[in-house]
Amino acid sequence: MQCTACGREPMNPNANYCDYCGTLLGTEVHPEPTEQKTAETSKEAKMVPTWVFFVVMCLPFIPMVGWIAYLVVLVYWGFSNDIKDSKKSFARATLLYTVLAVVLMMTMMGALFGGVMNGLSALQL
Ligand SMILES: [Zn+2]
Repeated sequence: MQCTACGREPMNPNANYCDYCGTLLGTEVHPEPTEQKTAETSKEAKMVPTWVFFVVMCLPFIPMVGWIAYLVVLVYWGFSNDIKDSKKSFARATLLYTVLAVVLMMTMMGALFGGVMNGLSALQL
């Protein structure tokens, strides 16, 4: 194998680098397209700003429309393609947590309500 830089034959035919000039040998060297990769990684590494957490967590406390806005924001963040990944995973996790909490709350309230109704009907009989 001949060196592409200086044209000389390296002493060791299996060498990765030229003995004379140190150039990387071999034709199957593809420089990695790192530019896009690093841009994506740095984007991903960015944390969701604190104020975003604060605003979203306060939404359910707004009477009536708060819960709807809260769910709309989380669904939009969790499933829109324009949203960066950190916010997306935050929204999905929060949404899942909220749904679980609501289901649990409704189950408990249902059990309580059912118990009260049973008690009332028992009194009436
Ligand atoms: Zn060379």
